[in-house]
Amino acid sequence: MATVGACNQMSDKRTPPVETGQIVESDIVGLTLEGEGVGRVQGFTLFIRGALPGERVRAKVVSIGNSFGRARMTDVLTRSVHRRFAPCPIYEECGGCQLQHLSYVGQLEWKRQYVVDSLMRIGKLPVAGEPVRGDAADSVRSPIVVHPVIGMADPWRYRNKAQVPIGQSEGGLVGGFYEQGSHDIVEMEACLIQQEENEQTVRAVKEAARTLGISAYNRSTGRGLLRHVVVRHAAATGQRMVVLITNGRDIPYEDELIGLIREQVPGVASIVQNINTFRTAVVFGEHTRTLWGEDVIYDEIGDIRFAISARSFFQVNPEQTKQLYDAAVRYAGLTGEETVVDAYCGIGTISLFLARHARRVYGVEIVPEAIEDARRNAILNGIHNVEFTVGAAERVFPRWQASGITPDVIVVDPPRKGCDSVLIQSMLESRPKRIVYVSCNPSTLARDLRLLEDGGYRTVEVQPVDMFPHTVHVECVVSVHRIDNNGNA
Ligand code: SAH
Repeated sequence: MATVGACNQMSDKRTPPVETGQIVESDIVGLTLEGEGVGRVQGFTLFIRGALPGERVRAKVVSIGNSFGRARMTDVLTRSVHRRFAPCPIYEECGGCQLQHLSYVGQLEWKRQYVVDSLMRIGKLPVAGEPVRGDAADSVRSPIVVHPVIGMADPWRYRNKAQVPIGQSEGGLVGGFYEQGSHDIVEMEACLIQQEENEQTVRAVKEAARTLGISAYNRSTGRGLLRHVVVRHAAATGQRMVVLITNGRDIPYEDELIGLIREQVPGVASIVQNINTFRTAVVFGEHTRTLWGEDVIYDEIGDIRFAISARSFFQVNPEQTKQLYDAAVRYAGLTGEETVVDAYCGIGTISLFLARHARRVYGVEIVPEAIEDARRNAILNGIHNVEFTVGAAERVFPRWQASGITPDVIVVDPPRKGCDSVLIQSMLESRPKRIVYVSCNPSTLARDLRLLEDGGYRTVEVQPVDMFPHTVHVECVVSVHRIDNNGNA
């Protein structure tokens, strides 16, 4: 199933052959990285939400730019065999999922192709089973094996964390999601990719706030108290966490609110307040205090236990996280003798998995609370051969290098923007035998792999894992080897 990046439709400079308001019929030739169908009308590109590759649809043109337009689908004239009924009642308004109308098998195929296309187009890398492109930087090397995406047996109700914006409607306090393209908050009862426990927790917190007359934050005036409710559920232990993000420290009826939450939320082990008085779209503020219970909840992946605090990053799909980390450990190829660096380590999840098989692991992460959690997690699991440092990986890693730490293996798991170029440069200078790249963005992954390849490394294989079914997101674990003197990886 073809994927089409938006940047590839920018070349057509002729007068568009369609006008706004016109009804057109179009074949769908691909799916954009945002999950919209790509239609062509007399060579002109139209993005049509809800349309699938292989279909022919009727659509009304709603906007036209220089090189592409957008149209709203009115009828499916020829259906794809992969078309499914999207079961979520608010699928269109919410926008949190983009692929519910595509069969799960179709989603997995599309995600693999997204990875393959990124490696070839952006990284100029050869992929096994794909035709060699003219611009491939080196077509004699052995091509990269991109494995089928590891999917879920039941791809629903997987998320262990919900982050719900709170607002005021005429009928009172509401909480749910921002209506697409607006700042209006719409009440949401159910979310089919959320674990049911989270849904129940959010419902109970909203009800408690309504009962006690706690005000909702108003984004236009900057007044009102409750901005967001963030909830987590640790599937392995049953523990739940409630984080109330408030526009100010004082919560009226604080004790009553805590009482109601404890009464209504089974397994609640931590109720935390985070104060954010800034008029910003950023969810969390700087100040966090525990209102009741512990400041963390505990979850397990495999046989390792993790303490997770309110602001720390923790993978949201526990079942698939195990698959992801297993692949990372496999690609690290450890024998027990190695020095390993885990850059962008979060609360030390991958570091602790690796520590069992390595001599020593060094983790670095920019959020101080996450490093506190990481240290606590090492102790919790009786793992002593790890060391965690707070800071930007691109600053800390060169310092480690200068102090004589020479990793045999480096694992990176950066946010969507990929690795900092300074970090890539330092990694190349330190010449580890293997690099394991865990990525949530195939585009920046492909860019960074090209830099590593140009610096004497070879991408060997890629294991995509579906961490976010029904959304356009794709996660990959990549095995990268240093090329030896004979040119072998
Ligand atoms: N490996 C972890 C976390 C991955 S998410 C896990 O699987 O749970 C990426 C992490 O990178 C986040 O925790 C984020 O806070 C951190 N981060 C972002 N920019 C960073 C930087 N420049 N240096 C170090 N860590 C960074």
